[in-house]
Amino acid sequence: TEAGLAADTLPAEAPVVAPERDLFSKFDPLIAERAALMASGVRDPFGIVMERVLGPTTAVIKGRETILLGTYNYMGMTFDADVIAAGKAALDQFGSGTNGSRMLNGTFRDHVEAEEALKEFYGADHAMVFSTGYQANLGTISTMAARGEYVILDADSHASIYDGCKMGDAEVVRFRHNSVEDLDKRLGRLPAEPGKLVVLEGVYSMLGDIAPLKEMVAVAKKHGAMVLVDEAHSMGFFGEHGRGVYEEQGLQLGTDVDFVIGTFSKSVGTVGGFCISNHPKFEAMRFSCRPYIFTASLPPSVVATAATSIRKLMTAADKRRRLWDNARQLHGGLTALGFRLGTTAPDSAIVAVILNDQEQAVLMWQALLEAGLYVNVARPPATPAGMFLLRCSLCAEHTTEQLDRVIGMFAAAGKAVGAIG
Ligand code: PMP
Repeated sequence: TEAGLAADTLPAEAPVVAPERDLFSKFDPLIAERAALMASGVRDPFGIVMERVLGPTTAVIKGRETILLGTYNYMGMTFDADVIAAGKAALDQFGSGTNGSRMLNGTFRDHVEAEEALKEFYGADHAMVFSTGYQANLGTISTMAARGEYVILDADSHASIYDGCKMGDAEVVRFRHNSVEDLDKRLGRLPAEPGKLVVLEGVYSMLGDIAPLKEMVAVAKKHGAMVLVDEAHSMGFFGEHGRGVYEEQGLQLGTDVDFVIGTFSKSVGTVGGFCISNHPKFEAMRFSCRPYIFTASLPPSVVATAATSIRKLMTAADKRRRLWDNARQLHGGLTALGFRLGTTAPDSAIVAVILNDQEQAVLMWQALLEAGLYVNVARPPATPAGMFLLRCSLCAEHTTEQLDRVIGMFAAAGKAVGAIG
């Protein structure tokens, strides 16, 4: 039933349990804010259930066929026939799970296969697969930079990068988003001797903007820092081999970029995370990285789908071209309608529509959903500068006709909430 498929929600009013001792008291403002939002009659943008998924670009939500424009399924690999066949075969041959850590009983044939596929994809010497991209950042950053050393990160970094810093013992220094000058200044103030790790992202996922990696890497190297680039949102369609923004900007793994972090949850179309490197001592991470060691490894079916998907992404020129065509079509269409977007040009497969406030964003989100379109609501603290966004992420499998309909839905919903004239 529909009721049975509803996601759990918070109580409308927080029950009071000895408030001075109730550890949940700190959530009262959050509960009140959400109650007020729901009282305004909108649906919960964070309680969507995909009742059925029909393919990479459509699902059934609340009984209605809906276009998906808010997933990270950039290359549309989730329904690739070879990927699904590889997963099914692994499920049959290896069972449903590993029951253990990569370090002990949790390394199966396809974990090694996925790492081999990654080494081939990136032309890298080493690849380490984690259970999520979140854990890849958490583990790599917290392990690599130790007490007395420094992590220097962009202020708009993903939560997993911030959490990696929190978990580790290194000093943390932030620089202004995408500012080469500020990075240079902050590195210049640090003592020369200690080890330093500069953490960057190829594509920043909230606005879909690109980092000036070439200039940033030059500055990092000038100050003797190692460089880690999270390429979660670029794999498969940036650079000659789809390796990411670093490749697109002419940088090399090893000489320019020391570590690349990635995920299986976006272009690869499953779940998992990884770090690749040419550092000769990289394998030491396997024996020291807690988020790699103290958790169960990915199920065999997942790593088998990942390995197959990664290999197919090496020859996905067609999908890649369609994805960029789609980004241009959507960005162009929304710009022509008068929406304020996160980037002036279609720089990536993310197109962020900037709204005035939470109410406008949620009302518009709901109007789109009712018209048959799902996009992401993004709000502070995930967004920079307190922005409320409707984030669209494109898929290579979106058709021109689907995107024409999407642009029509944006026109109607945007006018209804006063976001455009
Ligand atoms: N890095 C970035 C930049 C991300 O956007 C995300 C997820 N949205 C991650 C890492 C974490 O990836 P995963 O979903 O595999 O945990």
